[in-house]
Amino acid sequence: MRNYAIGIDVGGTQIKLGLFDENMQLLSEQRFLTDKDSTAVELMNFLDQQVRAMVERTGLTLKDIRGVGAAFPSSIDTKRGVALESSNIVLLNDQPVRDMLQQRLELPVYVDNDGNVAALAEHRYGAGRGYDDMIYATLATGIGGGLILNGKLYHGMHGMAGEIGHMFISDSTGYPCACGVIGCVHSICSGVYMARYAMDRIKEGEESRILDYAGTVANIDMVAVGRALQMNDPLALEVVNRGAEYLGRMFHSLNQIFDINIFVYGGGITNLGHRFTDRMIASYRHHSLIDQLYPAKFLPAELGERAEIIGAALLVP
Ligand SMILES: [Zn+2]
Repeated sequence: MRNYAIGIDVGGTQIKLGLFDENMQLLSEQRFLTDKDSTAVELMNFLDQQVRAMVERTGLTLKDIRGVGAAFPSSIDTKRGVALESSNIVLLNDQPVRDMLQQRLELPVYVDNDGNVAALAEHRYGAGRGYDDMIYATLATGIGGGLILNGKLYHGMHGMAGEIGHMFISDSTGYPCACGVIGCVHSICSGVYMARYAMDRIKEGEESRILDYAGTVANIDMVAVGRALQMNDPLALEVVNRGAEYLGRMFHSLNQIFDINIFVYGGGITNLGHRFTDRMIASYRHHSLIDQLYPAKFLPAELGERAEIIGAALLVP
């Protein structure tokens, strides 16, 4: 009885697995730390083992599984099932991830980018329910996303659409990004690069409480920036406002291209709170003339850390 589906999310820090029944109820869930030093073959062997173990633990056999959906933190050529470029997990570059997993499990495997599957999940079960069109944005260590057009995930010509984090947005600021440009959204607004900006400013001699919370310059992260923000630290405020300003521009550009103004956003950077999200939304409204006529909806994601495993399982037809 092939009624069950498995969703896998291979993240930069964690690997998550979920087993779902035919009503998409989560029956079993597991998390592991990602071993960035392992090879692609070792990673696939690990996923194979863990899927089999989870199926067995649930009292099922592989014959009960309709298929496996897997999300990766990289551009995925979904037609060929190949991971193309990964700023998070270098070991996946140019690997035929779909076939590697399919050969091991002898089950149908479907692969996609993590932003795309989170968009699918939020559209079906989360904040995007009921909208024909929506844009999902992950605002976290990296910036990713997915486009739902006419009720469906839009993949583009090579299956790589929705990489909103690599939109080229400024040639006067930003860091060199794995996507090949300096000044994409990710290189300015992601957790990694907002923290990097704070580090550089402090190295240049700027005084900031960020350093008190981080301990050393090398330890500066968005948690330290967030704590300093709560204490009204001027540099923390500048770092956060700068990221929020460019994210607002990103949403504005997306609106100009697609005429979609339903934006669902999730991810760890939103833990910075209202000062961050309010500023991001204000930036969008400031730049968008059309917002007065058709006000955009900015909706916090509802599925949290499970969005990717739910969306990955939804890849299984
Ligand atoms: Zn980039």
